[in-house]
Amino acid sequence: MKTIKIGTAKAKPGHLTYGFIKALQLPTGFTDQIPVMIAQGKTEGPTFVITANVHGNELTGIAVIHELVTQELAQEVTGTVVAIPSLNPTGLRAYARSPDYDPKDPNRLYPEGRFAKKKDEDEDTKFPERYELVAKRIFAYLKKYADFHLDLHNHALRSIPYSILDRIFYTDEKDKPNALKLASQQKGMVEAFGALYTADFPAKKYMKLKYHRSVSGATLNTLRIPAFTIELGANNVLYPEIVRGSLKGTRNVLKWAGMLEGPYAKITEFPTPQPTKRLRRIEHPRTKRSGIIRFLVEPGEQVKKGQSIARITDLVGRPLGDGFIRTDHDGYMIALYSEITKYENDAIAEMGILDTEDIIAPMP
Ligand SMILES: [Zn+2]
Repeated sequence: MKTIKIGTAKAKPGHLTYGFIKALQLPTGFTDQIPVMIAQGKTEGPTFVITANVHGNELTGIAVIHELVTQELAQEVTGTVVAIPSLNPTGLRAYARSPDYDPKDPNRLYPEGRFAKKKDEDEDTKFPERYELVAKRIFAYLKKYADFHLDLHNHALRSIPYSILDRIFYTDEKDKPNALKLASQQKGMVEAFGALYTADFPAKKYMKLKYHRSVSGATLNTLRIPAFTIELGANNVLYPEIVRGSLKGTRNVLKWAGMLEGPYAKITEFPTPQPTKRLRRIEHPRTKRSGIIRFLVEPGEQVKKGQSIARITDLVGRPLGDGFIRTDHDGYMIALYSEITKYENDAIAEMGILDTEDIIAPMP
C-alpha cells in the first residue's frame, strides 16, 4: 500500500488514523494545527482528499466528514480517503469566515502556481504571510498525494445545495485537450454527487475574484487534479437532512472514482433540480434603488424572465417604484442574500442561468 504521511498522521491499511499539520506558530505561544484523518483501505487505489471549513462559519462539511470517514470506511474503501475537517480552526472557534490572525478571505490565498507572473514579483513575494503560509503548507500535501479533491462549503442561510464547475484555463492550443479532459473529469465528479450544479462566473470574473486561488480552484487549475467545490446550503447551522444528503453525494463521488462499490444513491433529503442545459452563476437580480427587500421566491425555485423576485419598499413599508424587483433571466434561484437593506446596484440574490461561455478559457 501507498505510504502516506501528512504532518503527524500516518496511513495504516484497513484503519482510520489521525494527526495534524503544524500550521502556524502563534506569537503568544503554541501552534495552530490543522487536523488530518486518513482512512486507508486494504487494496491499492487512488487518494481522495476531502476538505472542509476553510470558511470558519461553514459547518456542514465537518459533520459530513465525521459521518463518512470512519473505521468502517477504511475496511470498505479501495485506496485512501484523506480528510481535513477544518482548514481554518481559529475561524471555526469564532464562527468567522477568516482566521483570527488574518482578515483576508482564506479561500483566495492558496498558491497561485502557474498563474503567478514574473512581472508581478516584488520583494514581498518570497515571504507569504499568515494564512497564505498555512495554505502553502496544506497545499504541499495535496500536491504530493491527491488524485481527486472535494472541498465542502456553505453559501448563505437561504441557499440550495449546489456544486460548482470551475472555469479551467489552458496555456495554448496544445494544452487545450488537457483542459478539456480535466473539465470532463470534473463534470463526471459533479454529476456523480447528484446535487444541482452550475458553472462558475465567466472566466474574467472568476480571475478577478481570485477563484483560481480557492482551495479546489488551485488544486484543479494549478495541480490539474480533478476537484470541485460544493456549497451545502445554509452557513452557521447544521441541518441533519442536508448532512445526510451530502453524505450520500460524497459517497457517490467515491463510487465515481472507483473507490466504493455499488450504484449511486439518489439524494432525497433536499431538492436537486436537473436543468436540461448547463447553468452558470450570476449575482442577480440587482436593485435600481436603495430600500428594504422581501423575497417572493424560495431557494431552488425555477423562475422565468420578467418574474418578480422580491418586493422593495422604504422603511415604513411604502413601495418604491412599482414595488418589485424582477429578473432578466430564466433560471434557478440559488441563494437569497440575507440582508434586507440594499443599496442601488446591489445584487439581492445569486441565480443559475444559461451558460453561454465555454467551460475552458485561455490563460489571462
Ligand atoms: Zn465557503
